[in-house]
Amino acid sequence: MPTEHDLTALDREHVWHPYAPMPATQPPLVVSSASGVRLTLADGRELIDGMSSWWAAIHGYRHPALDAAVRDQLGRMSHVMFGGLTHEPAIRLAKTLVDITPGPLRHVFLCDSGSVAVEVAVKMCLQYHRSLGRTGKRRMLTWRGGYHGDTFHPMSVTDPDGGMHSLWRGVLPEQVFVPMPPVEYDPGYVDLVGATLREHRDEIAGIIVEPVVQGAGGMRFHSPRYLQDLRELADEHDVLLVFDEIATGFGRTGALFAADLAGVAPDVMCVGKAMTGGYLSMGATLCVPRVAEGISRGETPVLAHGPTFMGNPLASAVANASIDLLLAGDWAANVRRIEAGLRAGLEPARGRPGVREVRVLGAIGVVQLDHDVDMAAATAAAVGHGVWLRPFRDLIYTMPPYVTGDTDLESICAAVVAAAEVA
Ligand code: PMP
Repeated sequence: MPTEHDLTALDREHVWHPYAPMPATQPPLVVSSASGVRLTLADGRELIDGMSSWWAAIHGYRHPALDAAVRDQLGRMSHVMFGGLTHEPAIRLAKTLVDITPGPLRHVFLCDSGSVAVEVAVKMCLQYHRSLGRTGKRRMLTWRGGYHGDTFHPMSVTDPDGGMHSLWRGVLPEQVFVPMPPVEYDPGYVDLVGATLREHRDEIAGIIVEPVVQGAGGMRFHSPRYLQDLRELADEHDVLLVFDEIATGFGRTGALFAADLAGVAPDVMCVGKAMTGGYLSMGATLCVPRVAEGISRGETPVLAHGPTFMGNPLASAVANASIDLLLAGDWAANVRRIEAGLRAGLEPARGRPGVREVRVLGAIGVVQLDHDVDMAAATAAAVGHGVWLRPFRDLIYTMPPYVTGDTDLESICAAVVAAAEVA
């Protein structure tokens, strides 16, 4: 068994980490196991997880029901191709997704990850219009400040300046951007989106947004009323409306899906992350019958997409168990409890030097600074408080597992405040 020191050295030599140079400037911590809301490091330290492994591990780690679902499925088959074959775990997952997402969404394309779910959503929009002979409609409209993943089409609808994707100007498809949505409802903003749609009407295939919470693009919240306007504008201009609920889905905002906060149904919806309780990589793109019918009646009457691991039975089985677990408990009360804990616990950061804003929505708590964080110092401060956080840009934030107890939540908040202080 290699020592922690050996592992760190091998990691440094061979392993490329997310959003990092090679080798990484900050050596990652070695995790040896995780259980409940705690990560156990190779050196024996325990950290409370304030990140849910990037919005995913909503039930915490090694949950008995999720472990059992994986083990049971392993005893039957871990994988089988999805072309020409199907199976109960994927069928059940698709049916459940249709049942719990907004009513008009009826069809489900299972895929490998969030970014691929967004690729599929964009492909659906473009191909839908193409099938109807509108070949000029090949751009997407989105608002600034968004984030939709790291493969090329998702990058093209991610904020071109705010993210790390500005490097790719000239390479990415050029999408139509409108300004970031104001936090409070502003009818003038809606007029501007309408005018932009009118101007590019013959080019735009769809509108894609993260509803209510812009996540990795800056952890900003906006009024759900905008979603109602986007729905009306999409219908008026005959473009498809896509909600990327990869981060917001499965309860994180306090509604099961952020679309529910506005009572709006999109034509296409992407989910991922928390769908498998953070156990395995899987995304899904749902659509309304109109989209499927349009594509299936087109000149190329198929959706030409078929990842090797599409509908993976292990991932489907754990997703079914995770959604069952979520719906069986009072997830809404639990998210409300966490929301109240975050509001109280992050309040001390408000007004501190260097702190621009403190904001909380559902089980998402954000401290925004007036400068970029010193990531090494902020992370070290959180770890010193026994908490795992991963700040970025000017943000120190947490979206803890829903099973986080009140005392652990207090520790997470104290760690966020401490990280903000040193950052
Ligand atoms: N869309 C949103 C809103 C996301 O937050 C993310 C991941 N941070 C993605 C898409 C991409 O998902 P994945 O990392 O699974 O490819």
